[in-house]
Amino acid sequence: MSTTVITGIGELVTNDPAREGVLGLVTDAAVVIEGDRVAWVGRAAEAPAADVAVDAGGRAVLPGFVDSHSHLVFAGDRAEEFAARMSGTPYAAGGIRTSVAATRAAPDELLLSRAAQLVQEMLRQGTTTVEIKSGYGLTTRDEARSLAVARQLTEHTTFLGAHVVPEEHADDPDAYVELVTGPMLEACAPHARWIDVFCETGAFDVDQARAVLDAGEAAGLRGRLHAGQLGPGPGVRLACERGLLAVDHCTYLEAADVEALRESGTIATLLPGVEFSTSQPYPDARALLDAGVRVALASDCNPGSCFTSSIPLCVALAVREMGMTPAEAVHAVTATAAAALDEDGPRGVGRIVPGRRADLVLLDAPSHVHLAYRPGVPLVAGVWQKGRPVV
Ligand SMILES: [Zn+2]
Repeated sequence: MSTTVITGIGELVTNDPAREGVLGLVTDAAVVIEGDRVAWVGRAAEAPAADVAVDAGGRAVLPGFVDSHSHLVFAGDRAEEFAARMSGTPYAAGGIRTSVAATRAAPDELLLSRAAQLVQEMLRQGTTTVEIKSGYGLTTRDEARSLAVARQLTEHTTFLGAHVVPEEHADDPDAYVELVTGPMLEACAPHARWIDVFCETGAFDVDQARAVLDAGEAAGLRGRLHAGQLGPGPGVRLACERGLLAVDHCTYLEAADVEALRESGTIATLLPGVEFSTSQPYPDARALLDAGVRVALASDCNPGSCFTSSIPLCVALAVREMGMTPAEAVHAVTATAAAALDEDGPRGVGRIVPGRRADLVLLDAPSHVHLAYRPGVPLVAGVWQKGRPVV
């Protein structure tokens, strides 16, 4: 098996809990990659020899970013809706229907080529693990083919038939829930690892969300939830009660929600690109962290409420607008985001420690702080995925 040593690393973010600080930083560091795994981590002066040597030239190396929430399978775009919103039209969940019509009309090849392009765009910005949801098909056929497309790009595929009630079921949302939990689930489950529901006024209520999660879990999928994006509601507590790994958005939380998150250990995945793109108030990450809640950050890349694929932008927003330190924000897009996808085990991702998958990002900067300090600057100079240089 071929080995590579990356040496001359000015600052290495390991996220190794055995090392000091939130990020387990090592200075003047080296990493040895063997095959698709991290084999050795330590001081450059002590690094073992390898077949290939790469000099980082004093720059920073971090774990590859994990984007635990995205909607990449769709056709069309909603630039006009965005422009209208920026001139004063408020965001409503129904805008999703525009993407649904375009997605239904698009052939599989187009859906795949567009989603693959977004995954490449993410990779160039350091994202080496991505979760992809369906949710713009909303028929059995269109949800199943959306997930089959997503499956070609990631193992982390999520069935989101319960994204919004499609127009043809507007008069009878419960009949749509029966479709989602019945034939649609049956067609989608073979292509999905997770099941998700948009539990929000204007989308699905808590009883409908529970029914979808019950059916999904019975079919072998694991639950995720969108909740608390547009206002407070029972969705966050539902996620905690069920012991879901994560609940996503969490922009509007009541005290009982924060308590439930702390007690259950359910990760609050915050999606600051949404607030940025919709001009809404940001979630209070500081209050969550101070209460002992685990916080992840993800892009929510989607054609409506947030069309960014940039994890570095999310880090910058979390630091600038949500009270996170640069170290907390970097941890939230690596180790905690990996945990939100159940990928934080000894063979997982999100940390640079021996045994983990060799997913690494080289920054054109001396430290992780520059991700927030230099917003909007393309700092990612190199990416290794499964041990291979891909950028
Ligand atoms: Zn979403």
